[in-house]
Amino acid sequence: MEKKMKKRALILSPHPDDAEIGMGGTIGKLLDDGWEVILADLTNGEPTPAGSIEIRAAEAEKAAQVLNLTKRICLNLPNRYLENTLENRKIVAEAIREFKPRWLFTTALPDAHPDHIHASELVVDARFTAKLTKTDMAFEPHYPEKIIYFYASHLRQHANPRFVVDVTSQWERKIAAIEAYQSQFWLNQQDPAQRGWIIEHITAQCRYYGTRVGVKYAEPFFSHELVGLGNLDSLL
Ligand SMILES: [Zn+2]
Repeated sequence: MEKKMKKRALILSPHPDDAEIGMGGTIGKLLDDGWEVILADLTNGEPTPAGSIEIRAAEAEKAAQVLNLTKRICLNLPNRYLENTLENRKIVAEAIREFKPRWLFTTALPDAHPDHIHASELVVDARFTAKLTKTDMAFEPHYPEKIIYFYASHLRQHANPRFVVDVTSQWERKIAAIEAYQSQFWLNQQDPAQRGWIIEHITAQCRYYGTRVGVKYAEPFFSHELVGLGNLDSLL
């Protein structure tokens, strides 16, 4: 049997906050299980109405500390105008080659936000590009075993995930990480009643997926490839 790669996950998030919203609890579980989790924001997420590059970076750093991420970086691709270009593909592929993750995570499609759509497609193409030889890209070729998609969609859809992860034990950690983004969900709301709306939204969503498998909170995930289980012990 092929030797498994190191327990390292690379999350490629369109903006700071998407990964925390989609998989903050699963990040906590991976870390607690001895995985290294590297979060790469593709863009700095700015401009936004109540943010600035400095504020957003400080919020991202705070969230990284709450989650105790192994590492967090920003690839500084253009926010709002993120595209799946050959140039950007090489930038993301070099990050994959540098960190050599076993698994990649990115945002699921469909989505209404063009950055999310292009990020998801960019990661698929960068995964393939990362294994190429005879290129001018830095670092040795690498091909992550899987791309797993988290749910941070701007589309108001009824998503049907491939699997869900019980994140009940990580719930406070996930919420605290999202609360780091004051400029995105609190300070940008004129109506005081709307401040922090994301918490109720995410709580309802994860509570719903939790009920489907008999736990309190679960995060939904998607995959284009078959998901295999090493054993049945972890089935809920
Ligand atoms: Zn986003």
